Order: sequence, then C-alpha cells, then structure tokens
Amino acid sequence: MSSLPLGEGDEVRTALCHFCLKSGILCPECEKKLRRGEVTDTDIKIARMLLELEKDCPPLQNVYFHKAVEVDDALAIVVGRGDIARLHAYKGWLAKSLEKMTGKKVQIVEYDVDDRSFLEYLFSPLEILTINKIWLPDGSTETRVILKGGKKPPINLETLKKLAFKIRGMVLRVEFGGWP
Ligand SMILES: [Zn+2]
Repeated sequence: MSSLPLGEGDEVRTALCHFCLKSGILCPECEKKLRRGEVTDTDIKIARMLLELEKDCPPLQNVYFHKAVEVDDALAIVVGRGDIARLHAYKGWLAKSLEKMTGKKVQIVEYDVDDRSFLEYLFSPLEILTINKIWLPDGSTETRVILKGGKKPPINLETLKKLAFKIRGMVLRVEFGGWP
C-alpha cells in the first residue's frame, strides 16, 4: 500500500478531496486550489466522472489523477507514473467511457515519466521509431518524433503537438518513417 494524501484508500486519488467531488460543493481547501489555478473546472468534471466509473473499473482505486488537459477536440487524462500499467486491460474501456461522457477524443498519459514514455502514451497506438532533441540557434530545443507509418493517428497530429506543449512544454516535430 502506498501512502495516501487524503487518508482514503479505496477511491481514485485526485488533488481534490472526495467530499468535494461527491457533494459538488467545494471546501475552503479545494476552493483555494481552484482559485490558485492548481485545479481547473475541467479537472473537477473529469475527477467526478472517474469517481463514477470506479465501480465498473476497480483498478481506478489505485490511480492518481493529476489533471485533464483539453485541446481542440481532444482530452488528455494525466495520471501518475505506473498507473497505465495498473489500469491494464481497462485502459481502452476507460478511454472509451470518457469519450462517451465528454464527447472528446481521449488519450491517457502518465505525468512524471521520461520524455519517451510520455510520448509513447501520447501517440499510442502508433509506434515511435526514433526520438531526438534538436537544438535551435536561439538555444531552445525541439523534440523530433519519428512515427512508424501506415496507421492513422488516433488524434490529429497538430492537436497532439499542442497537448505535448501544454502538458510538458515540449515542442514537437513529427515525421513518419519506416513505411512497409
Ligand atoms: Zn475539498
């Protein structure tokens, strides 16, 4: 058992307390987080949905929900390191359920992982062939991602690039290679 910040061990963990998620009324502590921008209205909406989905998806009980990031018609659900493995066979089901509930295309990614793992989740089910960093004359960097060709991306590539920037501040250059 890992330690739980909220003293509750049987429900999906979020930055907000379960009292607030269930009652729909924010306690002073959660209200502060919302005001400081640590959580958004979208986070609250998604956290409530996750809580609801939990009864049909037991692994959610051990998942830490960091935040939900919305770009265009897509929604990235950012969970803790190792949580996607924890969801295992439920990952697809969870994404589909959230898609039905939000009307958005949903991708689940992990937060505190290395760049490669993050990008693998972001572009899943596309396969990443190569990732490398490009240093620009002004000292900034871009990350070049070469995806294996032949499959259609689950979400528009421009949208995925925006998600990478919004979640991790990464500027991506996406190319396809390795056509069969
Ligand atoms: Zn609260």
